[in-house]
Amino acid sequence: MLRKENILATLDFLGENVTSLEEAHASKRAYVDALNAIEAARLPATVSLKLTQFGLDFTNEACYNNVVPLLECARHMGTRIEVDMESSEYTDRTLDVVTLMQDNFRGHVRAVIQAYLYRSEADIRMLSDREIPVRLCKGAYKEPPSVAYPKKADVDRNYVALMKLLLQRGTYPAIASHDEKIIEQALSYVKEQNISSDRFEFQMLYGIRRDLQRRIVNQSYRLRLYVPYGDAWYPYFMRRLAERPANALFVARNLLRS
Ligand SMILES: Cc1cc2nc3c(=O)[nH]c(=O)nc-3n(C[C@H](O)[C@H](O)[C@H](O)COP(=O)(O)OP(=O)(O)OC[C@H]3O[C@@H](n4cnc5c(N)ncnc54)[C@H](O)[C@@H]3O)c2cc1C
Repeated sequence: MLRKENILATLDFLGENVTSLEEAHASKRAYVDALNAIEAARLPATVSLKLTQFGLDFTNEACYNNVVPLLECARHMGTRIEVDMESSEYTDRTLDVVTLMQDNFRGHVRAVIQAYLYRSEADIRMLSDREIPVRLCKGAYKEPPSVAYPKKADVDRNYVALMKLLLQRGTYPAIASHDEKIIEQALSYVKEQNISSDRFEFQMLYGIRRDLQRRIVNQSYRLRLYVPYGDAWYPYFMRRLAERPANALFVARNLLRS
């Protein structure tokens, strides 16, 4: 269905913070199956994963070893694995594993940076120097003011600054937001700077702001939708609810709009 509408996808097999390496191996098998299915159906899609689903709570090494089979698939398919960013206690470890992934499987990984963290500009500069593509999002976890901007206006301002930095210095960045004002600023900036539409992509969550999604695709910009699947809905749903407590009503309105 998304392919027909010229929309790319990234599949997220729901799950995080596994409590045993057995569970981490099961995540690996589910993701390898997903990549094989994507290849068999020739879908314009990849996968997004959380490193705590692959054993990051045990050791970086165990986690990396679990991700290697996915990277091998991605290299064979000519695609890249997207590594979601979790709460700030994992930022350093996640970036360490992502950097190792890039060192050994260059061009087959994308990192995520959250605009609410004070450290993000430095992280973007480090990732850009290593030519690691970045998905920029605002950030979905509850963080203390010691590490993240508490006010939404500051997060939004930082998002726009980081987005411009990525569009200038980054490797094929992904602008992940449903914020209409941010999308408008991205569109004006790329026009003003003559940045061609094949040098970046927009990303949104499946089912949210379908009107905005259509507008982007109709203007011939690339759009990738994040599509969660599987049984472990609870933490994902709670983050979406925290972003927007009126979500139940919002989903109904979205359905009417589309
Ligand atoms: C593709 C993608 C991948 C992501 N990956 C990560 C990640 O790895 N780590 C991480 O911390 N966060 C991730 N996020 C979540 C992100 O950090 C934000 O929490 C979320 O996208 C809301 O921010 P926003 O930019 O849409 O702006 P907001 O200012 O929060 O929202 C702007 C508008 O978008 C709509 N909207 C936004 N969120 C919702 C929602 N849940 N339900 C209904 N309407 C909504 C509303 O109209 C709202 O007014 C991801 C988001 C996307 C789109």
